[in-house]
This record gives sequence, structure tokens and C-alpha cells, in this order.
Amino acid sequence: TSYGFKRVGAGDKQSLVNDVFHKVANRYDLMNDLMSAGLHRLWKDAMVTWLNPPKRIGWRVLDVAGGTGDIAFRIVDASHGQAHATVLDINGSMLAVGRDRAEKKGLSGNTDFVEANAEELPFADATFDAYTIAFGIRNVPRIDVALSEAFRVLKPGGRFLCLEFSEVEMPLLDKAYEAWSFNAIPKIGRMVTGDGEPYSYLVESIARFPNQANFASMITRAGFDRVSFRNYSGGIAALHSGWKL
Ligand code: SAM
Repeated sequence: TSYGFKRVGAGDKQSLVNDVFHKVANRYDLMNDLMSAGLHRLWKDAMVTWLNPPKRIGWRVLDVAGGTGDIAFRIVDASHGQAHATVLDINGSMLAVGRDRAEKKGLSGNTDFVEANAEELPFADATFDAYTIAFGIRNVPRIDVALSEAFRVLKPGGRFLCLEFSEVEMPLLDKAYEAWSFNAIPKIGRMVTGDGEPYSYLVESIARFPNQANFASMITRAGFDRVSFRNYSGGIAALHSGWKL
């Protein structure tokens, strides 16, 4: 099904995505709670538990498509305030919300915010101990390029973790989920932000994203070892892991 969306080229796709997040930045955190019925918090907690950041100063994580900072703040907390997180996002409006939140949480010293593209990371090779990306990679036009960049900026021994919506693998849940996402989510979007269109786009991008096994192959092709994944909530979300060895 196309749900009325045209196929778009890489450049167009990125500007469409940018419009979406400029429009929703101020309501983004509220929308996440409403759209996932709070589940995104549990999935994000699970991601950081799997990462298990060490409690030592000098350990650095790059959180790509980091938006308003949800993953970065959790990682810093889990490291007992020792880790340093760089939040990278292509969208200045999302980062501005993140910067405010960091200040309010007293985490400005542990975080920095960089406006850049996941396909072209402004860092030297082998800079980070970990690379995280949550609900971001499906918005990137050239996923293979983003994965190569992830591999490049990680130190040998570095960890890659990606949380993303995925393929629901439970027979009844998949129908319910489809109804929820294609009907309810754009409606909630319209109610809260006054515009349902951006959320229709997001739902569409989820339906197009490769399933668990195919995405795992892409991560392997980018050079990562010991690639594995786990499903959350029947596959509504999946967490993929890989190592630069
Ligand atoms: N990681 C955050 C979270 O889980 O709450 C934010 C996820 S939000 C759904 C997706 C983010 O990806 C947006 O902030 C958007 O600006 C960002 N994004 C989209 N395309 C990007 C790109 N090419 N490079 C970096 N960030 C991008």
C-alpha cells in the first residue's frame, strides 16, 4: 500500500524529514508518550541496560539522531554521571529542546550537541567507545552510508546499538498495530500539533524499513561483528547490536 505517498529521492526525503521534526520539536516528547502509550521509555531503558556503560570518566558515546536527548541522558545516568555523550542531530530545533533539557537536568557538563548529518559525521576515525541511534536510522536517506560512518567513528572494540521500529512478529498484534499506527497516530498528531501529515509520513517510513533479519545483514555488511538483535513488544521495536572488532 502506498497510503498516498509518492516515492521520493534521497534529498527530498531528507527535507521532508527535516520539516516534520522542525514542526514537532516542542511537542516531540509529549507525542512520543502518547503515540507509544509510554512504551518508548521502557524500550529506551532496555537499550541502555544492554549497553551497560562503564562507570568511568573518559568513556564517550555518540548518540546519533539524538533529538531531545532521551538516550544520552539515560546513558549518563547509567554511568553514574561519568560518561560523556555527544548528541548529534540534523535538526537544530530538536537539539535546542535537548540543550534546554540538559541544562535543567544539570547534565550540561556531560553532554554536547552537534548539528550534523548521520551520513557525514564531523569526527575523526576511532573517536567513540559507543554509537547509539534510537528511532533515527529509518529517517536517514542512505542507511548504508550512515552505518559505514558509525563503523568509522567507533574505536576498535566499540559498540553499535540501534533501536528502531521493526516488524511485528505476533499474528494478532500486527493487525492491531497497523490500525493503531495508520489511523490513531496521525489523528493524535493532528490533535496535539495541529497537523497529521508529519505523523502519516513517520508511520509510512516504519512500514518501509527493513525487517529484523535484513537490517542485521546491513549492519554486518558495514563491517560489524557479532551482530544480534532482540525484539520488544512483539517486534514493534527491535534493538540491534554489533561490535567493531
Ligand atoms: N533519538 C531520539 C528519541 O529516540 O527520542 C529522537 C528520535 S526522532 C524520531 C528522529 C530524529 O532523527 C529527529 O530528531 C531528526 O531530526 C533526526 N534525523 C533525521 N535525519 C537525520 C540525519 N540524516 N542525520 C541526523 N539526524 C537525523
